[in-house]
Amino acid sequence: MAKRNQKAAKSAAKTRKVKSGIYRQSTKLTETVVTESIGQEAIPVVEYLKGKKNISEFTIAQNIKYEVGQVRRMLYALQNRNLVTYFRKKDREKGWYISYWTLNQGGVPELALAMKRNKLQELRERLKKEEENKGMFYICPSFCTRMEFERATEAEFKCPECGKPLQNQDNTKTIERIRENITEIEAV
Ligand SMILES: [Zn+2]
Repeated sequence: MAKRNQKAAKSAAKTRKVKSGIYRQSTKLTETVVTESIGQEAIPVVEYLKGKKNISEFTIAQNIKYEVGQVRRMLYALQNRNLVTYFRKKDREKGWYISYWTLNQGGVPELALAMKRNKLQELRERLKKEEENKGMFYICPSFCTRMEFERATEAEFKCPECGKPLQNQDNTKTIERIRENITEIEAV
């Protein structure tokens, strides 16, 4: 009996450990997604809404010490990305409508996936352009500009910004870096 209890306790501890791991992971993902898509300033709003339901923007503003207008901007940005839901209700005393907000934690992985797809698409397009113009990029020695052969010809191989002669650039390293970047993102 004692042994069985021990085993049960052990398994419960294991479950707790796994659960807290998932929680930490999801907290980190939420932070990353919100920061990248809206900005660091939206984090306090998200943190405040965690584990709560139907909170008015005035309550949020009061608690995180933001202006109501600022909170509203963050909430609309979050709503655009399906990270919060809300409903409006007329305040009997004041006679105006107040919005009540709830965090949509389920929207986080969806948005993360969409952002990942966008990033990958962008990188693949860049890679394609670099590969198609391999060894045919031109760069200003003062780094004002970087362009493909055709545009460099049009500019008569002179920097349009400072007039210095453009230099041919070996873009092998750039291609390698983009490829690495793609592999890294794909692995996440
Ligand atoms: Zn230049």
